[in-house]
Amino acid sequence: MSTETLLKENAQLRIRVACLEERCRELEERVSKNSQNSSKPPSSDGYQKPCKSSDSTDNPADTDEGADASNNDKPNPKSLRQSSDNKSGGQKGHQGTCLKQVDNPNYIEFLQVKECHKCQVSLLDKESVKYIERQVFEPGKLGEFEVTAYKAEVKICTCGCKNQAKFPEGVTAAVQYGPATQAVAVYLNQYDFVPYKRVSEYFNTLYKMSVSAGTVANFVARTDENLASTEEVIHDALQETAVAGVDETGMRAEGSLYWLHVMRDDQWTLYYLAEKRGREAMDAMGILLTFAGVLVHDHWKSYFSYAAVHVLCNAHHLRELLGIVDRYGNQLALRLMKLLRLSWHYCKGFKTIGMLQMPGVTHERIEKIYDRLLQRALTKEVAYMEKQRQELGRKKVKNTKAYNLFKRLIEFKTETLRFMSDFTIPFDNNGSERDIRMAKLKRKITGCFRSADGGAFFARIRSYLSSARKQGMDIYQSLFRAVQNYSNMPLLGAE
Ligand SMILES: [Zn+2]
Repeated sequence: MSTETLLKENAQLRIRVACLEERCRELEERVSKNSQNSSKPPSSDGYQKPCKSSDSTDNPADTDEGADASNNDKPNPKSLRQSSDNKSGGQKGHQGTCLKQVDNPNYIEFLQVKECHKCQVSLLDKESVKYIERQVFEPGKLGEFEVTAYKAEVKICTCGCKNQAKFPEGVTAAVQYGPATQAVAVYLNQYDFVPYKRVSEYFNTLYKMSVSAGTVANFVARTDENLASTEEVIHDALQETAVAGVDETGMRAEGSLYWLHVMRDDQWTLYYLAEKRGREAMDAMGILLTFAGVLVHDHWKSYFSYAAVHVLCNAHHLRELLGIVDRYGNQLALRLMKLLRLSWHYCKGFKTIGMLQMPGVTHERIEKIYDRLLQRALTKEVAYMEKQRQELGRKKVKNTKAYNLFKRLIEFKTETLRFMSDFTIPFDNNGSERDIRMAKLKRKITGCFRSADGGAFFARIRSYLSSARKQGMDIYQSLFRAVQNYSNMPLLGAE
């Protein structure tokens, strides 16, 4: 074989090796992603613990290569249940287990008629004509329910006017469930993600009460209605807040993909379920259009279209940097991570001694190191891409993930380091992620909302509960008030 042929073959093989290397790198990138170094959810990590990252382990060689293999191609469990077009709850023509008055209620309250409502004459000495009875059912001791009977007296005045004692607020029917039953049902369904049918079973099993799934659905719908004005209070509070975080996560409703949006601060949370993820949904949510405060987010491009003061989540940056450290052992990325963490550490220190922002000298010094590290990292990445381009003999190659990240951190330096110039600005968007995590839990437990209405109920009720909790209020007491439609929700600013 001639030298010429060998050289030619050699050149071809080089190109082939370079192509294969690139393909290999792409695949490795895909496989090495887990919830710790990318935006993949923890549920995608599988049952095995994710392999330790080189940032946190003493011995980087210790990482288990097989740990990720189990994550791939794991099929989702599938229900064999066929879906129907019926709404949740009682169906048409269904023989309901009707609540009936009992003969021996646990408590009896007599409601007296004292005077005529027309002529104000005292009726204390008058004989009562009859009593009208209404019964309220509540859970009692385990295994029992309790009934309170309200007996409203009826008396006829000498003026001929018929007087009936007033029932307490909320006691409106001959038989009904009380606020505790409603609050517990809404709590189980909305807060603990227990489906309607199993909430019904809960009451049946533990208290011998026959609360149907349809009744539970009604409790939830009514609570949602009662909270309409509270939602407006939350809306207004967030409109005026100085620093708010935003995030969004996918949710399934009516069989298609919806997005649950959250906007929040330390006192308030507002959830909003929309068919869209982007600008259209955010406009519909209504706050961002005229929001003038600081907006913390994870670089989702729709947020940038609003005229707020933008702040980028550094937890995301750290995670992305860690991904690059893990995959390529990039030392500059590792140093950048340390710089970000150290800066935040300093900020917290300065804050404890009453400062409002980082001292100028320290600030400048950190910025300088930030610039230098990123410039070096970017130059190295550009050189790598150029080398790859030559080896592949192409005009252009795809930007590496690291290049894109470094470039972004340079371009959005102000948004990334804003936490140093104002200590009311958080380092990351973890607050929003914390507030939206329950939606991910909901997705894992019940999978989806059967209807868009159900999703909207969830968003409003959880907005109220999350805000209540942030303001130090008891969740059950908050629900107890909500089911009874107390017009003044004891939230801040709602009085
Ligand atoms: Zn009278």
